[in-house]
Amino acid sequence: MNSGSIKTKNSIIPLLRKSGMMISNNDGEIVNFQWQIGASTFTGTTTEFTFNENGEYQITLTATDNDGATSSTSTIIKVEPFSFAIITDLHIGRHYQEEYEGEDYYLTQRLRNVVNWINQNKDNIKCEETAICSLKFVAVLGDIVENTPLAGFCKVKEILDQLQIPYVPVFGNHDVGTDEEFEKEKRWAGQDYFDQVFWSTSSIPCQNTTSTKNFELLLNDLNFQRDETNKDYKNFSFFFGGINFIGLDFVSREHFMKFGKGVGADAVLNEINKGWLEKKLEESKGEPVILFGHHPLIFDPINAFSFTEFPQLENLLKDNITVFFDFAGHIHSFEEWHGKGWWVANANKKYIPIAFTNVLTTEALMVGSNGRGVEEETGENGVVNGKKGIVRIVKVFEKNEIKPNSWETTEKGDEFLAFNPSLNLGFSIRRQFNNIPCIELEAHKFSEKPSDFLWNFGGETSSVDCNSDFTECLVCYKEGGRYTITLFAKDKNSNFTESISKKITVNEAIIPRTIKKSAELIEKGIEFISEKAQMSFNKIGQVVKDKVRILKRKSPAVPVGEITIHFENLGEDLDLAGLITDTDLEKQKTILYMESWPNVIERSKVLFLPKK
Ligand SMILES: [Zn+2]
Repeated sequence: MNSGSIKTKNSIIPLLRKSGMMISNNDGEIVNFQWQIGASTFTGTTTEFTFNENGEYQITLTATDNDGATSSTSTIIKVEPFSFAIITDLHIGRHYQEEYEGEDYYLTQRLRNVVNWINQNKDNIKCEETAICSLKFVAVLGDIVENTPLAGFCKVKEILDQLQIPYVPVFGNHDVGTDEEFEKEKRWAGQDYFDQVFWSTSSIPCQNTTSTKNFELLLNDLNFQRDETNKDYKNFSFFFGGINFIGLDFVSREHFMKFGKGVGADAVLNEINKGWLEKKLEESKGEPVILFGHHPLIFDPINAFSFTEFPQLENLLKDNITVFFDFAGHIHSFEEWHGKGWWVANANKKYIPIAFTNVLTTEALMVGSNGRGVEEETGENGVVNGKKGIVRIVKVFEKNEIKPNSWETTEKGDEFLAFNPSLNLGFSIRRQFNNIPCIELEAHKFSEKPSDFLWNFGGETSSVDCNSDFTECLVCYKEGGRYTITLFAKDKNSNFTESISKKITVNEAIIPRTIKKSAELIEKGIEFISEKAQMSFNKIGQVVKDKVRILKRKSPAVPVGEITIHFENLGEDLDLAGLITDTDLEKQKTILYMESWPNVIERSKVLFLPKK
């Protein structure tokens, strides 16, 4: 007779993992199956058993047929501690945003490096001197893209699909899609892209990456569940290694009217995310729980919860002593604000716990380990050997012993060095060659690591004038064409280089238009800045629709308003001599007025920047 065979999902399983077992080859004569697991005995064709301690277990299956003959088989199951990795705020598509087409650049390269690091090291993570606690999954805590169309989501999936372990994406405030899509559809398109790309078992709308494998792993191996009743909100839960994970979407859906793209940065507690949290806490009462979200559970009306929302969360959590951790992202710096007053220099932070729950944020992958915020060296803030970690490794020794502060990536040679170069370009109003406009270029970086700037202009030039540190160049091409301009930031001590490219078309038919100011506006120090070029209209012209920020030059420059201009409809330079800007910097008041606004300015997009 055939005794049947033992099948488990994995021969090595993490602590407390429920392992499904089943029999195959039952030829019908067998009347009884008996399982011996440690000191416990079970019967039935399948059985489930929860391992409460790490160790090696022998499992024996004995089959008895209708004549009373028996046969048995055994297997060894190893139950061991495990770990998982956290990365956050990838911001893929940053510097391209709505124009992102899936370009490879330093941020996609950094993500690839992280993926390679995880694949190479996933089985070498040490728990103690000798014990290994392998990485079992990667949590990606939101701002996966930065206000991109579908191409951004597809790019991230293309890279993360290379992981040899499952990944769990979380929805962030920059994952809502583009403002242009919102204007057209009155709906945040990112809500749909997220589902179609990351949470689908049917056809994926991406060219280079159509596998549904990751989501199937989540469903089958991690018991993943989403909130099916509120699909616009990306709340979810899963179970692994004896721990209940609850994923929460606190992202605002309110259009952000002031600066930046998309929705507000604050967290929103509503019936949907609150309901999900309540329901899941109830279901896992008394069991270990870890929370994942883009926004941390902290009181911060600008970046997280308001003074009415925070106590509600506290109240929800106060009876749950086993909600051990809340892991989040969202708190990090942007280069726009670097050097302009206080801004977080290292987001690997521990906050005041909410009820019994420890709240931790992890540094953004888009910021990287770039020298900022490495002054204070502690394992707790992710700084080791003068390097800042961007891959947090959480080690689960036992169900009540979870260590969240490992930064294996900061060991010698494993730093994710970051220069974060950015490249702005616009048509010069100062110079032309053969009737084609020359290009003004500007290089920036967001790092305290020393590096050099290098350029590739992508074609034959007639002249190139750069300043001494190559942060500004004026480039004239020999003939018209479409050129890819690449900026490289190269480490002074090694070959490590980060790059970013932009495409531009130059030919005779392209006539850049600029903005003319009155003597009064010049006197007042009023400056018009192109959003697309990030340069002043003193220097450049524009050929397409652009958002123009109005600044008052004072140290530091103060924004007073924003207008959207259709440069493509201009027959000549735009005369804004009649613009009245009455700005009272002390009272934080501004007035933008024109007796009649030119047609090329979108009246609905004239934005008076509000009082502080
Ligand atoms: Zn972010």
